[in-house]
Amino acid sequence: MMTATIRENIARVEERISAACRRSGRRRENVRLVAVSKTHPPESIRAAFDAGLRDFGESRVQEAMSKISQLADLQITWHLIGHLQSNKARPARDLFHWIHSVDSLRLAEKLSLASAPDGARLPVLIEVNLGEEASKEGIPAANAVALVEQISNYQRLELHGLMVIPPFLENLEEVRPYFRQLRALAGEIERRNISNVSMRELSMGMSHDFEVAIEEGATMVRIGTAIFGSRPPVV
Ligand SMILES: *Cc1c(COP(=O)(O)O)cnc(C)c1O
Repeated sequence: MMTATIRENIARVEERISAACRRSGRRRENVRLVAVSKTHPPESIRAAFDAGLRDFGESRVQEAMSKISQLADLQITWHLIGHLQSNKARPARDLFHWIHSVDSLRLAEKLSLASAPDGARLPVLIEVNLGEEASKEGIPAANAVALVEQISNYQRLELHGLMVIPPFLENLEEVRPYFRQLRALAGEIERRNISNVSMRELSMGMSHDFEVAIEEGATMVRIGTAIFGSRPPVV
């Protein structure tokens, strides 16, 4: 996609984020825009960076690896937003600054073991499956507290909150309850005061529903199509 178009798309998304913040009495700086660049070439990421974006999300370790190395001259914060297999924990740990998709103890353990030589802690989120669809990734809400408690023991991981991918529904008012549920679950966990655990971050909202997500408390929105245009269908 043309650089000018990416720039215009970002300006439009920015306006919509700001409007959603105003509607819900929130501050713009408390919502982080993560530009989801999966399937898009490094040149598009560079264009978005030049337009002011600093956070980028990728779904697959393999794809991200070459793109991240081609963009090593840019100060980008990389977010892994897709499902992560525990055998890819080490490269993921080396490439990404945030992992949004921790959904098992096994994966948490591998990420912790793969921790950086400098001992830096890795910020992670737990992906919760609120739709309870068998095909979806994420841990069922009923098991989330147990996973949080286990992860709190890993001193190399820094648990910051929760992430959700709700079912795709045309009617945004039908999506809203999922965002509310995630926020309520984060509140419930927060009240347990588990050491080494924060529930400050809620990663929720994509191109078609990010405004509703912001109204419901999202602190990170993951936006691809509205910035970079449509992607080739997944094969
Ligand atoms: C692809 C993807 C997005 C972005 O989706 P868009 O509809 O293109 O904005 C957000 N989150 C996750 C987990 C994704 O896989």
